[in-house]
Amino acid sequence: MTTQEKKKGKREKEDTLSPKNVLDILPKDGDLWKEIGRAMFGVAELHNFHFMETPVIERAEFFETKQNKEFPFKKHLYIVKGKGERLALRPNYILPFLRSYIDHHLGYFASPLKVFSYGQIFSIKHSNEQEKNVSREWVFHVIGDNDPIYDVEIIHATLEVVKALKIKDASLLININGCRTCRGAYREKIKSFTGSKKGEMCSHCAHLCEKDPFAFFDCVSEKCAVVKKDAPTVLDYLCQSCNNYFKNLLELIEDNGILYELTPSLIRKSEGSNRLAFSVRSLGIELAMGGRHDYISEMAFKRQIAAVGVSFFVDRIIQAIQLQGNQILTKQKPKVFFIVVGDQAKKASVRLMHILRSSGVITMEALGKKSLKMQLKAAEKAKAPVAVLLGQKEVFEETAIIRDMDTGAQETVTFAGLVEGVKKKLKS
Ligand SMILES: [Zn+2]
Ligand SMILES: [Zn+2]
Repeated sequence: MTTQEKKKGKREKEDTLSPKNVLDILPKDGDLWKEIGRAMFGVAELHNFHFMETPVIERAEFFETKQNKEFPFKKHLYIVKGKGERLALRPNYILPFLRSYIDHHLGYFASPLKVFSYGQIFSIKHSNEQEKNVSREWVFHVIGDNDPIYDVEIIHATLEVVKALKIKDASLLININGCRTCRGAYREKIKSFTGSKKGEMCSHCAHLCEKDPFAFFDCVSEKCAVVKKDAPTVLDYLCQSCNNYFKNLLELIEDNGILYELTPSLIRKSEGSNRLAFSVRSLGIELAMGGRHDYISEMAFKRQIAAVGVSFFVDRIIQAIQLQGNQILTKQKPKVFFIVVGDQAKKASVRLMHILRSSGVITMEALGKKSLKMQLKAAEKAKAPVAVLLGQKEVFEETAIIRDMDTGAQETVTFAGLVEGVKKKLKS
């Protein structure tokens, strides 16, 4: 057996050619993906978030800062070899955003800076197989201000996206993660608590709890869910300043009629995170996660810059919408399917389709299929309510046939009257 044959054999066993533990967004979900993007752009526009985009590679050292051993990214990093540079695929958006904020003095562009973006983030998963190594996120961040007003703006924007996507039964979970003054005491308390509960935790968390005492708060196992219920609450350990902040925040949230569930187990592992932590869930699926991370810039770049933001998980949003029955796709725009028979008609169709599209009519075609029957089938499959038919005779007479795909009724129009005729038919 040659090496190549061996490789081929291995591939066949694995079934797919993709790397392990990643997902593709497939054309069948493309319309959903577009709707999600539309919702994000719509909300960003209303709130005046600026679009920005950073490369998927950054200097690895930013994610590996040693001054704080709790920095959670290191073991999850994809390291890439650059020319004389050690690079990493971004495991999140906030550090690249802050890096760009510093590099380009974006505080002068806007203060605070409100930005949003879409892209993939990369994180090698070691234990939880349900999580993918590459995920797609929309992110919104407010950088350069620690006023709880912006915590509420991020929450508002998040809930507006959820509303625009018509996601049912979404709940907002909120907690506070303390600050440098008070988180240490809470951490010690949790450390001794988890030490005493080791025997009742799942094996993964029991193994981790000494190094990473907050890890079990993220765990989804039944065993750890029971332990979480008895865990000391962070609310008993807040300093005066965090208490005031939290009081202000909850007042703002309640003044705005936002419904929320106070969830003390929503504790972030990263020492870059502080104060607000929130999560939006529907049917047990976490669709978005957000919060404040006023320390992360100092840890990575030695510059203190306040920031609050949210990440939306596209794969999970698609999953939730599909579980709930795709309601956001019911308001699709009407479409026309262009059908041609013969080479002359095919040629003429290029110009006519361009005219239709220029006047705002979504026009589909399957010019690769030769027979009328196959093209009609394609039009049915695409659920186009109206088709335009063009044959040799029609081209010669400069006319086209407009067909109602439901009733089969047809009428002939001139080339000049095509747009008007199609629009009339689409309206009826
Ligand atoms: Zn505090
Ligand atoms: Zn666990």
